[in-house]
Amino acid sequence: MKVAFYSSKKVGPVPFFPSVTLFNDCASHPPGSAPSTRYDVDSFGDANGDIGIELNFLESRLEKSTVPLAASHDAVCIFVNDYCDADVLEGLANLGVKYVALRCAGFNNVDLQAAERLGVEVSRVPSYSPEAVAEFAVGMVMTIVRKYHKSYSRVREGNFLLDGLLGFNLFQKTIGIIGTGRIGLLTGKILAKGFGCNVIAYDLYPSKQAGEYGIRYVDTLEELLRQSDIVSLHCPLTDGTKYMINDTTLGQMKRGVILINTSRGALIDTTALINALKSGHLGAVGLDVYEKESAYFFADSSTKIIYDDNFARLLSFYNVFVSGHQAFLTVEALRNIADTTLQNLQDCASGKKSPNLVEAE
Ligand code: NAD
Repeated sequence: MKVAFYSSKKVGPVPFFPSVTLFNDCASHPPGSAPSTRYDVDSFGDANGDIGIELNFLESRLEKSTVPLAASHDAVCIFVNDYCDADVLEGLANLGVKYVALRCAGFNNVDLQAAERLGVEVSRVPSYSPEAVAEFAVGMVMTIVRKYHKSYSRVREGNFLLDGLLGFNLFQKTIGIIGTGRIGLLTGKILAKGFGCNVIAYDLYPSKQAGEYGIRYVDTLEELLRQSDIVSLHCPLTDGTKYMINDTTLGQMKRGVILINTSRGALIDTTALINALKSGHLGAVGLDVYEKESAYFFADSSTKIIYDDNFARLLSFYNVFVSGHQAFLTVEALRNIADTTLQNLQDCASGKKSPNLVEAE
């Protein structure tokens, strides 16, 4: 099997390309601004040792204009910010590509109906390390509450004043977990069992394990929002969850609440978020994801203008902490991602139905 492995290859310095149109619609990276992901090449290279699938690491993100790079390949391997809509899938199918292997859990960037219609199989890595994301989410809570990031820069500059670094205890604070799947449950467990927080949760499908992890369900999202000192998002991005955090739901949160999103950017309406920050309603926000992150994340944009005014505004708030979709990034997670993705590809090559296929509902 021959696999076109998009958004993966480490590249040199990123040339500046001042195309406003490209940035404004956030439709794609400018040519040359490929993601720099040496870790994919390393982890997949190691895991593929004895298996011997032909992996062709490509700098480019998968999108309509880069579909031709998949010519003569049986499969493409893609990540969270590759585009795999109906147009792209049609292009891939015309080239004879039969398989899309997502090296991530979320699949909101793939048009599953189109894939089914075109006979292209789609697989994912449903769970590679919920611990990686849960531990990162808790770290983000701690960073915001105890201001590690501010003290780090301050001390480096020889300023040992404590003014402005006042935090609060997590002990007995109410934490609201939205979505209690693999990651949400673990996040709640660490906060309940480790910190002594009062962890409440909301999920359309409550988990039986929640009780033993010290997590208590409330009946409605509104109830969770009204009670929580800290809200952490852990549900997938679907038509039903897009902008679940909006003017109305932000208004239901306590004044001074801390909001954490390590799930998917578009769970939050960014304009509403900015308004709630400007009015002082939100105490602080931690984001590992952003709804239009694909224009910037996984690439070095340090010598580029940020054309997305909402994103620039978010980065300007003293009480907003942003990381670049990093929560998954641990040695253990990368190895699991590589092993499962390669197994999915092997299943496809041997005509076996992979247990990790994603199908249209
Ligand atoms: P999961 O499928 O195990 O759990 C998701 C939970 O959300 C389920 O229990 C589901 O019932 C619940 N849910 C769905 N719709 C809901 C709604 N409207 N309200 C409340 N709950 C709802 O998923 P997971 O493995 O725990 O991952 C959660 C999300 O984390 C993924 O969808 C992905 O977007 C994100 N993620 C981010 C990173 C990162 O690096 N930042 C890495 C992995 C996963």
